[in-house]
Amino acid sequence: MPKLNENYLNVKDSYLFAEIARRVNEYAAAHPEQKIIRLGIGDVTRPLAPNVIASLHEGVDAMGSSETFMGYGPEQGYAFLRDAISAYYKSYGVDVDPSEIFISDGAKSDTGNITEMFDADNTILVPDPVYPVYVDTNIMSGKNITYMSGNADNAFLPMPDPNVHADVIYLCSPNNPTGAVYNKAQLKEWVDYALREHAVLLFDAAYEAFITDPELPRSIFAIEGAKECAIEFCSLSKTAGFTGTRCGYTVVPKALTFPAANGTEMSLHAMWNRRQSTKFNGTSYIIQKGAAAVFTPEGLAQCKENIAYYQENARIIAQTLQKHGVRFFGGVHSPYIWFECPQQMDSWDFFDKMLHEIQVVGTPGAGFGENGKYFFRLTAFGDRENTIEAMARMETIL
Ligand SMILES: *Cc1c(COP(=O)(O)O)cnc(C)c1O
Repeated sequence: MPKLNENYLNVKDSYLFAEIARRVNEYAAAHPEQKIIRLGIGDVTRPLAPNVIASLHEGVDAMGSSETFMGYGPEQGYAFLRDAISAYYKSYGVDVDPSEIFISDGAKSDTGNITEMFDADNTILVPDPVYPVYVDTNIMSGKNITYMSGNADNAFLPMPDPNVHADVIYLCSPNNPTGAVYNKAQLKEWVDYALREHAVLLFDAAYEAFITDPELPRSIFAIEGAKECAIEFCSLSKTAGFTGTRCGYTVVPKALTFPAANGTEMSLHAMWNRRQSTKFNGTSYIIQKGAAAVFTPEGLAQCKENIAYYQENARIIAQTLQKHGVRFFGGVHSPYIWFECPQQMDSWDFFDKMLHEIQVVGTPGAGFGENGKYFFRLTAFGDRENTIEAMARMETIL
């Protein structure tokens, strides 16, 4: 009889979206005449850019002829895509060598798989509220988590406590679920703290493309010293609508080395390369062809149009909340708007109120951690008409 990984006993059922679906379905069955608007989705809705579609087609055609057929590719990703991503970083002033970029099928896999690089005996700092993947993947691999509090007082941007040691620190900016964005000075503080504590920052930049202020850092590597203490995860999911197409990338600097117990210097870049070469056979050539098109001038311009569409939705939502004096975070450099439930309502009670009174579905903050109990997340990924209608309905209950 196998002894199973009992850490899985400690992972909570993914109750949030199942419970939302249950409540919505129950309401819809009882009120079939009502139009329900969903502003809870964390998935994009705009189609892929025409330039990407053309490039995907080219990739498919290449597979159909013996001269251009592609078999196994490099586990780290094709040079054409790693070079394109390196040039993309350069376009906003960040220096990342192509050899430090690993192409994957998305940031969720990589943020989960990175836990393999770390022993269970570490102090792992995770913000609350949080993208649940960081929490569950650490629990699955038997690690203990220390939470750091995001709250209205720190604008949901927890900062390092110089009196508390950490070994591994998760940061996500622009943040899911709160939409909050760290500025350069704040990230510098994190980098300095990590260097001082000999810690690693795991920086999730999945929403970097939503940043419009050139003063805000789109990468942890915009901060001096980050190459010695940070790994960055990024994804084409939100940048280019690849949630269903699947492509992401992770930057592991070569300077990231730490001594083993026996004194041997261990390189996270070498370890990640070994891990990927052993357990991953690369992202499909066709998908990498499509991904490379994202980073051409036409591709970037087309993807930007889609992002601008979502940003306008975010602006409409934020404007409604502002008008009614509701305290909120995000909504500017992020597709997420995180607001305080009116009258200090519990987030599930407010969820029910929205569903029953105005038929708008959002995400209760409680699903992202203790600190989300009285907050609520709306997303800008819906279509324009529905977003406008949802906000007109919101006006009636604020
Ligand atoms: C959407 C999202 C990602 C992207 O995940 P993929 O697996 O690349 O689709 C990563 N991190 C956060 C916080 C996200 O919300």
